[in-house]
Amino acid sequence: MLGFFAVYGNPIVHSKSPFLHNYAFEKLGLSGYYSRILLDVGANLRRNFLSNGLSGANITLPFKEEAFCQCDEVRGVAQNIGACNTWVLESRKHLVGYNTDAQGFYECIKEYKINNALIIGAGGSAKAIAMILQSHNIPTTLINRSAPNLGFFADKGFECYVSSEFKPTCSYDILINTTSAGLNDNVLPCDEAQLKELCSCAKYAFELIYGKLTPFLALAQSFDLVCADGKEMLINQAALSFELFCKQKFNRDNLDIQSIKAFMGEIS
Ligand code: NDP
Repeated sequence: MLGFFAVYGNPIVHSKSPFLHNYAFEKLGLSGYYSRILLDVGANLRRNFLSNGLSGANITLPFKEEAFCQCDEVRGVAQNIGACNTWVLESRKHLVGYNTDAQGFYECIKEYKINNALIIGAGGSAKAIAMILQSHNIPTTLINRSAPNLGFFADKGFECYVSSEFKPTCSYDILINTTSAGLNDNVLPCDEAQLKELCSCAKYAFELIYGKLTPFLALAQSFDLVCADGKEMLINQAALSFELFCKQKFNRDNLDIQSIKAFMGEIS
């Protein structure tokens, strides 16, 4: 038995992770089972994981920073991000934390011809994306509607601006919306005129939200940018976590990603 796995978050009922992981277990004939757990208090994350006898977990909003702090060892790019979305139990008691959001994003854009990037937003996902872009030497600027969350990025050497004070002095090849603007409302992540100016010079637009045409993506499409939403990133991070859970690499063709994408399209 490979073990029991789960995704932690609050809210969690909307999570597609159980579908993705159970689909992969079944497809590959592996005896694992993946569930979802609603957690009220982040401080209880580790205790809950161990008392449920889990072998691994994904951790989503708002507990990724807690997951970083409560594991025994952090590996890879997660060390610079300060947030983990994946836990794997080793030797029955050693809890190892990873961040697969970062690589999951990078796999979506690695074929793009990008000399520089602009990230809109400064939350947890912006950290993952900024750090993976930095690790690939892609100069990255951040803008956010408010100042406090920009401190993390300024400390790491990124150029950062509060959106309302931002006057683009150069063009950016890719615009990445990491804000939740457009998720439950119909708003752009920053000023419309500013975004139009940025779109007029960009080649690519990436929206982390998936399953809907957000105002950001609609605007980018109207400028004929190459556009992507967050569906593939979600699938990539799940596949990377899955490989960590199973402690082996898989040929992604065997996971029938196209069927997963089609199914995700139907249910989103
Ligand atoms: P956080 O809560 O950590 O950060 C949210 C960010 O959005 C902050 O910078 C916040 O600004 C900004 N923001 C929120 N509302 C608005 C608004 N109306 N206008 C402008 N800025 C706004 O969230 P995450 O970074 O973890 O997630 C962000 C989005 O990315 C979510 O929609 C999430 O679903 C999606 N996501 C998708 C993934 C995928 O695999 N496709 C993976 C991870 C996240 P401020 O600092 O001022 O509060």
